[in-house]
Amino acid sequence: MTGPASWLAAREQLVLFGRRLLAERLVYFTAGNLSVRIADDPELVAVTPASTPYDTMRPDDIVIVRTDGRVVDGARRPTSELPLHTLVYARRDDVGGVVHTHSPAAMAVAAMGIGIPPILHGLISACGGGIVTAPYARGGTAEVADFTTAALRDRSACLLRNHGVLAIGPGLEHAYNAASVVEGAADAYLRALAFRPVPQIAPDEVERIRREQWAPAWSRRAGAPTHGG
Ligand SMILES: [Zn+2]
Repeated sequence: MTGPASWLAAREQLVLFGRRLLAERLVYFTAGNLSVRIADDPELVAVTPASTPYDTMRPDDIVIVRTDGRVVDGARRPTSELPLHTLVYARRDDVGGVVHTHSPAAMAVAAMGIGIPPILHGLISACGGGIVTAPYARGGTAEVADFTTAALRDRSACLLRNHGVLAIGPGLEHAYNAASVVEGAADAYLRALAFRPVPQIAPDEVERIRREQWAPAWSRRAGAPTHGG
């Protein structure tokens, strides 16, 4: 493991958030992956390695790659789902962190191919509104990233059909928060569907929450939006 202090800071941040993924049950064993753009070099990204359990992951397991996917530093192979991360960074310079989870309620919604409508305040403040499911594509292919581009437009998260969650943010904390909120909202939605139709928040109120609580984090490019927690 080599490189400047900014690389080490990114590596340590990914190890910390990896442990959080496990503690919150947003992934199982080695599933899912995380990345963060290097603070002083926007062409570089730190990303979690392939097939590594989060509870034993160390900073020197984290790989530094270019946004074109080439490995710059690290002894490990990057996650097999690398294009999901690098293509987002390459296409969107406003994205500073990407979190991909296999969380249970979200996977159930993704398997159904439905979205989560704007039924909860926290979903709107964390993700910018209700979210949709991107069409099915095989994991690790550029196609996955292509299909998520539209689903992530104007939102901090989407579901990947028959797969999991993809969350983005101006920083890693925002992206993580979005992935975490999606799991909670998916769980609530599945429960509420027993009493369908599930009432949605009025469009003008959705717009107000987006404007006041979701959009500022993107324009500041820092921190996660607060949602009463
Ligand atoms: Zn995955």
